Amino acid sequence: MRVVVSGARPTGRQHLGNYHGALKNWVRLQGDYRCFFFVADWHALTTDYARHESIADNTVEMVLDWLAVGLDVDRSVIFQQSAVPEHAELALLLGMLTPVPWLERNPTYKEQREQLTDRDLSTYGFLGYPVLQAADVLMYKGEVVPVGIDQAPHIELTREIARRFNGLYGPVFPEPATLLTDTPKMVGTDGRKMSKSYGNAVYLTDAPADIHGKLARMVTDPRRVRRHDPGDPNDCPAYQSFHRHYCTPEELRHQEEGCRTAAIGCLECKEIMIKHVQAELAPIRARRATLRPDDARAVLAAGNARARAVASGTMAEVRAAMGLA
Ligand code: SF4
Repeated sequence: MRVVVSGARPTGRQHLGNYHGALKNWVRLQGDYRCFFFVADWHALTTDYARHESIADNTVEMVLDWLAVGLDVDRSVIFQQSAVPEHAELALLLGMLTPVPWLERNPTYKEQREQLTDRDLSTYGFLGYPVLQAADVLMYKGEVVPVGIDQAPHIELTREIARRFNGLYGPVFPEPATLLTDTPKMVGTDGRKMSKSYGNAVYLTDAPADIHGKLARMVTDPRRVRRHDPGDPNDCPAYQSFHRHYCTPEELRHQEEGCRTAAIGCLECKEIMIKHVQAELAPIRARRATLRPDDARAVLAAGNARARAVASGTMAEVRAAMGLA
């Protein structure tokens, strides 16, 4: 089986954006690949080194949600990056051969420095995070990395680093391929990207009444001020993100026509979609209710040991190849 490696920063309870953007796909991949999924807690420090207090709790909450959606310890290695210190050693060694201009031209580096003006991104850690990412993937000889189109340049950089390493020291690493995933973009209830920090997220563990309340209030076409004002689904964030994803073609036709002719109101239109969201989240919430923080800790402890066993083998090869054995 080919190896898949993917990780996520510890952001705590997972929302529908996390679910549709990554987790649902991870669950599917478990059947076809040997999967390593990790909590990228060191990566959290690359942009937020001063806000470390919530990392431990967020790690546990996130892993519980991973288990609730169907990540399976019998089919995947689920671990915590910082519990496998070999990642730091490999990142250090790969850093020796990674030219700084490769990192400076990383589009995310430029974008985030412009956009995240409330954070200090002038650090060595932030500039070098793609090297840490390369170490995360190459450690397990990852052959496939599932990413959205916007993250594809990072995997290209991992490939370049692997190529350079292999050219200098002999073939140790495969060059991982990008598994482009066409994931639906879920916007938040205010129409912006769904994000914990915007306060616009629908969480996997939200109670049914909260899910209903959030989605019932979600922004729609601003032209539908009164019940009899016609609207356009193309200008409705709820329709473009949620309805399109959840509703059947027949329901969509009914909603489109009803919207354009003002035959249905926004709440009536949304109820159709909300029913599907509730149906999707009910079994996840039920599984989550059976899990306790110690379950996440136990999963991580076992996963960390499995990950370290692989990592120590890779590092022995790396040290030997670099004359450090
Ligand atoms: S009727 Fe439906 S599609 Fe139209 S604006 Fe309202 S929620 Fe959106």
